[in-house]
Amino acid sequence: MAHGNTPITVAHGDGIGPEIMDASLQILKAAGAKLDIETIEIGESVYKRGHSAGIEPSAWESLYRTKVFYKAPITTPQGGGFKSLNVTVRKSLGLFANIRPCVSYHPFVATKHPVMDVVIVRENEEDLYAGIEHRQTDEVMQCLKLISRPGCEKIVRYAFEYAKQNNRKKVTCFTKDNIMKLTDGIFHKVFDEIAVEYPDIVNEHWIVDIGAAKMADTPENFDVIVMPNLYGDILSDVAAQIAGSVGLAGSSNIGEQGAMFEAIHGSAPRRAGQNLANPSGLLLGGVMMLVHIGQGDVAERVHNAWLKTLEDGVHTYDIYDESVSREKVGTKEFAQAVIARVGQSPSKFKPVKYGVAHSIKVPTIAELRKPAAKKDLMGVDLFLHDRRNPAELGPVVDALQNDHLQLVTLSNRGVMVYPRGNSQTSTIDQYIGRFMSKTAGTPISHQDIIELLQRANHAKLDVIKTENLCNFDGQPGYSLSQGQ
Ligand code: NAD
Repeated sequence: MAHGNTPITVAHGDGIGPEIMDASLQILKAAGAKLDIETIEIGESVYKRGHSAGIEPSAWESLYRTKVFYKAPITTPQGGGFKSLNVTVRKSLGLFANIRPCVSYHPFVATKHPVMDVVIVRENEEDLYAGIEHRQTDEVMQCLKLISRPGCEKIVRYAFEYAKQNNRKKVTCFTKDNIMKLTDGIFHKVFDEIAVEYPDIVNEHWIVDIGAAKMADTPENFDVIVMPNLYGDILSDVAAQIAGSVGLAGSSNIGEQGAMFEAIHGSAPRRAGQNLANPSGLLLGGVMMLVHIGQGDVAERVHNAWLKTLEDGVHTYDIYDESVSREKVGTKEFAQAVIARVGQSPSKFKPVKYGVAHSIKVPTIAELRKPAAKKDLMGVDLFLHDRRNPAELGPVVDALQNDHLQLVTLSNRGVMVYPRGNSQTSTIDQYIGRFMSKTAGTPISHQDIIELLQRANHAKLDVIKTENLCNFDGQPGYSLSQGQ
């Protein structure tokens, strides 16, 4: 390792990946980046050699050692049996935060939103992306949405710390907690709790549907937006696209065990090998990497040279527009144009300034763990695979009650269908029988649930899963079914 160099792991990826990675690395080096590069192979060829996550076991050694991964896009093979490389790397390195700055470059890149500078901070490890899915019945597939309080605390604190460090004025939170009161509810609650610790930063919350509509309509009203995984995945692509092009946005994935930097776009196989692709997204991912490893001065030189190139009208095909562009160039020529401008600052765009950046530290899950709540088992939901209609099935389930547990509701897709219900409700082949303690406020035991399951077995009911219904410090830890 040359003196002062930072070791990083680089993967050239598939499709346009190798071209844009070569171009980006050339620019970073020309600007003085001090890097010791270790190259690993990932992607299609590795998948095809039988590694289901698209990465060789030996590559992990480099990643765990350098803890900095600069990654070009890969092609994910179609069909079952392949795991997402991104999800595997995120989980293995604990990359809990995905940061995607989406900036418009008006008037040099066509956009409907000339004033846009939004940073999406997406939670990266939880939500529906835990990938826990089951087929429960003939008709029903289930995907579990898991959101943890420490997970929310980490990402929300990261968003506020990011805002503070980058002189941002406002942090907005998007959730759907009017419907998902516990999962999205905890995200919103944690946001409100942490926001008060940052009195100099404006905070606001929007329900994600109207929030997304406002972001797409008037992005200039947003600054940093923090959200759970799924909303962040979708809306960061929307934000990048309306800013001008998905080809221009870079992204960082930050975690306790390491960090990964990339473009937000994919491997664009149809453009591969033709010296056409725009390396800007990956280059800006590289800029974020330089800031992360403490080479903010180099990041500044690269970013400003790149802005100067854009405003000089030197454009790749994807953003070329006769009315503003001066020269249509290929990947290599674009890289040379940026290199020729290293040391220059843009005159139309505001030059960027990174100064001495510090990587943002947030507490670990273990540090965030709170004392256990007082937990009382108050009942159980029995999930049943059954095709009968509610009038037929209801009495059968009702008859399972024992000395301690009674049927409170039988519901179908979250709507009560027994003992009261609307005959118009259409039902599918999965029901939930909710059994609660017969004596209000008195907890039941696990043995009561075992006995209930034995009775269900005797009644030839197909129980596909159970969920315990608990109070935590006296507060119900479960939702009510509609009509309950
Ligand atoms: P894509 O992002 O590769 O391409 C979408 C469109 O944008 C295409 O028209 C493409 O030509 C254009 N485009 C993208 N990047 C460009 C660039 N740098 N310069 C110029 N034009 C660019 O999305 P896709 O076609 O849906 O996916 C292709 C492959 O990439 C798939 O196998 C997908 O799984 C994979 N993918 C990988 C990643 C990743 O590795 N992080 C992310 C997304 C998609």
